[in-house]
Amino acid sequence: MKSGIIYLVGAGPGDPDLLTLRAARLIERAQLIVHDGLVDPAILALTRADAQLISVAKQRARHTLPQDDINALLVREAKAGRDVVRLKGGDPFVFGRGGEEMEAAQAAGVRVEVIPGISAANGAAAASGIALTHRNSASIVSFVAGQCKGLTEQDWAGLAGKGRTLVIYMGVKTAPQIAEKLMGDGLAPDMPLAVLENACRPEMRVLRGPLAALPELVEAEAVKSPALIIIGEVTARENTALAEIVAEAVS
Ligand code: SAH
Repeated sequence: MKSGIIYLVGAGPGDPDLLTLRAARLIERAQLIVHDGLVDPAILALTRADAQLISVAKQRARHTLPQDDINALLVREAKAGRDVVRLKGGDPFVFGRGGEEMEAAQAAGVRVEVIPGISAANGAAAASGIALTHRNSASIVSFVAGQCKGLTEQDWAGLAGKGRTLVIYMGVKTAPQIAEKLMGDGLAPDMPLAVLENACRPEMRVLRGPLAALPELVEAEAVKSPALIIIGEVTARENTALAEIVAEAVS
């Protein structure tokens, strides 16, 4: 039997308007969708009424389906002749384990296509009016995972500081260790940062403060995943969050 195709599709940060046309077309015509927990319900609502949706929802410390099982599921369905839309929050190749799924498909001889999505960093930056790079403030931007194997051994030296923007994914739970690590590397305690919770969704929040106050900020505001931490001078530039501009314009 002819194998189906596995499409690794980036669903973007939340708002369905931020899907690529290619992603939207694949989602609308798919018969089998395997999605993770980050995919917004508004995007799942675009699927056909008769589509089969399988959730492999993953949350920190609560893996409902181990990655090997997800890989096996994708390959099994494709080998049975079905096209599979593997839908992931943001971009499949930015902390999305898309690389592992692509390799599993290739190892099994199954055709795989990757459809990029707007990663949380890009979506959050646009929605909050924080330019990740800026001629006067930053010419380097780095993406790091704040919750990963051996956080303390990770070498982040030089990634944050003057002229640089550091975007931390999955850093809510480890905020105290992150602040300590960065200050241990010599970053100024008053380096400005922003925490962007639920970026590109109606309930989005933008919180700001100095690096030293990150743990208190996360604690006092009860910040929940998904949230990004952006560290650098770009977060302190004079800017009004775009959402606020819209709100003012309509009021
Ligand atoms: N592949 C995804 C990232 C998956 S890792 C992407 O490219 O965006 C999951 C982390 O992404 C979350 O812990 C959070 O740090 C970040 N994230 C995803 N969606 C987000 C959103 N709407 N707002 C803020 N952060 C988000």
